[in-house]
Amino acid sequence: MSMGRRTFFGSVSALAAPQESAGTERELKTELLQAIEGIPLVNTHAHIIPEGDRTSSRIDFFTLAGHYAINDLISAGLSGGDLAVVRNPDAPQARRWQAFEPFWQSARLTGYGQALRIAIEDIYGIDRISGSTLPEINRRIEAANRPGLYEEILIRRSNIAYSVLDDYWNAAPVRPDSKFFVSARKFDRFVTPQSSADVHKLEALTDVSITGLAGLKRAMETSFEQSLGIGMVTVKSTLAYNREIHYAEVPERDAEASLQSLLRGNRTLPAGFRSRVERPFRPLEDHMFHHLMGLAAANGVPVQIHTGLHAGNGNFIENSKPTHLTNLFFLFPQVQFDLFHMSYPYTGEASAIAKVFPNVHIDLCWAHIISPSAARRALHEMLDTVPSNKIFGYGGDYRYPELSYAHAKIARRNVAQVLAEKLSEGSCSEEEALQLGRKLLHDNPDALFGKNRG
Ligand SMILES: [Zn+2]
Repeated sequence: MSMGRRTFFGSVSALAAPQESAGTERELKTELLQAIEGIPLVNTHAHIIPEGDRTSSRIDFFTLAGHYAINDLISAGLSGGDLAVVRNPDAPQARRWQAFEPFWQSARLTGYGQALRIAIEDIYGIDRISGSTLPEINRRIEAANRPGLYEEILIRRSNIAYSVLDDYWNAAPVRPDSKFFVSARKFDRFVTPQSSADVHKLEALTDVSITGLAGLKRAMETSFEQSLGIGMVTVKSTLAYNREIHYAEVPERDAEASLQSLLRGNRTLPAGFRSRVERPFRPLEDHMFHHLMGLAAANGVPVQIHTGLHAGNGNFIENSKPTHLTNLFFLFPQVQFDLFHMSYPYTGEASAIAKVFPNVHIDLCWAHIISPSAARRALHEMLDTVPSNKIFGYGGDYRYPELSYAHAKIARRNVAQVLAEKLSEGSCSEEEALQLGRKLLHDNPDALFGKNRG
């Protein structure tokens, strides 16, 4: 007993040390955050719509809440008529709020909820989202929806050097506004056509006639060339939403047979969620994905791949495990792969892959709002595991600049926090911590995406 007491009292001085170091860590974080705010961000992934489209449309609080935050409200139970009212811009504001509010109470503390609250507070100056502040929030959003908004938010307030834009809404390549963006292009539609109607769309898009595999490849090559022509800096793939991302090596004749069966239209296609596991034309898809990787290799273009969590409400998370991709890392050593979203929840797998494959990078785009704390833990682990030149620290992954700003704020705070932890545990010097911050948020992604910036 007396030993126990001695141990207890003996530990008091030992306890004092962590408290002291917690204080020091906070100060370090504050200092680091100040320095990190000065780093211009390379935003590795964005869906920000052209400013002209944005300022000519009606935007209100529920528009902003409609990107990501709404999915947590749906997960909390918002559904049916209430969800339709929230999404209806013509419904009365008070009625929309009434439907939104009960579920917002459960969703406001998640990463998506935090980002929405930061955007409303910092950009629109209102620190409480409520039924009584909503009219003023909407008045301010409407008043700010003018040309110049992107310059104000993306450059002046967020200090974003440029964003890699995934403009999935453009089937044909369109050069984005070079003041804010560089272009990522998707070729998934050439990998996974499911019907002859899909194939006809590809013909119309590329002016290439597709009667067999050679034609489909020529169509993909044409689109790839056109994309290079508008300054594409990276390929992007989001097939994890549609299927498991293991792409087997499939001989041409099997892919051809698969495409011919598709063109004949004699297969019944799986409906709804089943289409994400039953792939009637899988040999074709696998073969075409390898063809796409070959094009990326030949042209020195990196490849961004969606791994981990899916947006929306419901998917097969195991389809998106980064370890499904391992054969590609072996087969295409020249291709620089960028694994998205810290592969959440497969962050350890992603770190293990990026640790050993020189051509694999790991990207925290979307991560700081999926879960701010998971992103901190993952970054802490990555910095101990993966060479620091291969970690990308921020990608907003939003449609609206206000939310990209909010995500950037959370990302800078997270990076500062993790670097303060590294500093206080003695694993790097102050100078090294600052250098790491610069690499994560700017230099590493810039080395991959900045070289063709026009
Ligand atoms: Zn995205």
